[in-house]
Amino acid sequence: MHTVIVGAGLAGPLLAQGLRRAGHDVVVHERDEPDRPDQGYRIAIAPEGDLALRACLPPDAYQRVLDTAGKRGSGWRVLDPQLRVVQETLVPPSPDEERDGRHLTVDRQTLRRILLDGLEVRYRAPFERYELLAGGRVRAHFGDGTNVETDLLVGADGTHSRVRPQLLPDAEIVELGQTEIFGKTPLTDRARELAPAVALDGFCVVTGPDGRFMPLAAHEFRTGGDDYLMWVVAGPSELFPADLSTMDKLDRRAHAARLVADWHPHLAALVRLGDPATVGSTTIRTAKPVPHWRTVPVTLLGDAAHTMVPQGTSAAVALRDAGLLCRRLTERGDRSLLDAVESYETEMLDYGFAEVDRSLRSASA
Ligand SMILES: Cc1cc2nc3c(=O)[nH]c(=O)nc-3n(C[C@H](O)[C@H](O)[C@H](O)COP(=O)(O)OP(=O)(O)OC[C@H]3O[C@@H](n4cnc5c(N)ncnc54)[C@H](O)[C@@H]3O)c2cc1C
Repeated sequence: MHTVIVGAGLAGPLLAQGLRRAGHDVVVHERDEPDRPDQGYRIAIAPEGDLALRACLPPDAYQRVLDTAGKRGSGWRVLDPQLRVVQETLVPPSPDEERDGRHLTVDRQTLRRILLDGLEVRYRAPFERYELLAGGRVRAHFGDGTNVETDLLVGADGTHSRVRPQLLPDAEIVELGQTEIFGKTPLTDRARELAPAVALDGFCVVTGPDGRFMPLAAHEFRTGGDDYLMWVVAGPSELFPADLSTMDKLDRRAHAARLVADWHPHLAALVRLGDPATVGSTTIRTAKPVPHWRTVPVTLLGDAAHTMVPQGTSAAVALRDAGLLCRRLTERGDRSLLDAVESYETEMLDYGFAEVDRSLRSASA
């Protein structure tokens, strides 16, 4: 069986790895260059993501994920703008994590390198449209002028998916009026002095009275690497310039520092020490639930299917999708391809939109 996957983020390459292990032909098409530095932030992966990584990756690649993960912190805290802890939740390691999955923190760029290792990937090949062919196949067209005929087209192309609007023209993604600028500050001795101690021991978020907030967390590689502190400066979109996404990275970093200038001085200082190449920005969006559509040989995975407010679970849900679709495709026995895809979609829409709803409620609580 031949599969074309659009998007070399997290879910797309994991599905490709699982299919490849089962002997399927699979090729990934990615819009961007390999290794964009502003795609390298630290992400927390909830246990279902760990289980999917374990199921799809070859054992040595999965071991590399564990070896390059971040050191485990003791929990998460909420701080006030003067860096006093106002809430603390300790998260001890679960004795059953081997069975139930681990809480991992990973560097996204490092994880992507592991996920992409050994795959056939066409970079600078933005997906544009598909056509359903007689006989049940599908042809995908790309912006580099190429097209490819395949048995299954998988849109794993994230929040701004080009596959989703063609498959589901009525699906809506709503902006929530929140924007964020993020970046990484190398963990030099100076940065360690400036960082709140709790940011070196798990995840913390500084919250202001007016909707501004600043998540912070160190990523210290378990087996050595360029450790860093990840920071995000977030708040109501009206606090950010309208042309933020096209602004120079140094200007975005300067704007982030200005937004926290009236808080503890260490916070703006940490932002100003951020590596400009790693600075990025985004607006917060959420998908509206969609009813299940008539299954065709085109489907969706991860943020392309169920964009959600960042609450530390979207990456794990995207990886879970990859694990589930891989299982449905490789263990389908006598079932048709469309039956396998339909059963994946039914289950994915159920837990995916439950998580969209939970993330939205927890962000507005
Ligand atoms: C600063 C920041 C911090 C985050 N922290 C966390 C966290 O701690 N925990 C968590 O769970 N989640 C976190 N997230 C969210 C998490 O990164 C996403 O949920 C996850 O990456 C979704 O994976 P995906 O594979 O579905 O999509 P993506 O990772 O977005 O990948 C989509 C890929 O498709 C490519 N693409 C897009 N359009 C096209 C096209 N037309 N043709 C070809 N390719 C295309 C893109 O270039 C990209 O490579 C964070 C996000 C940000 C921005």
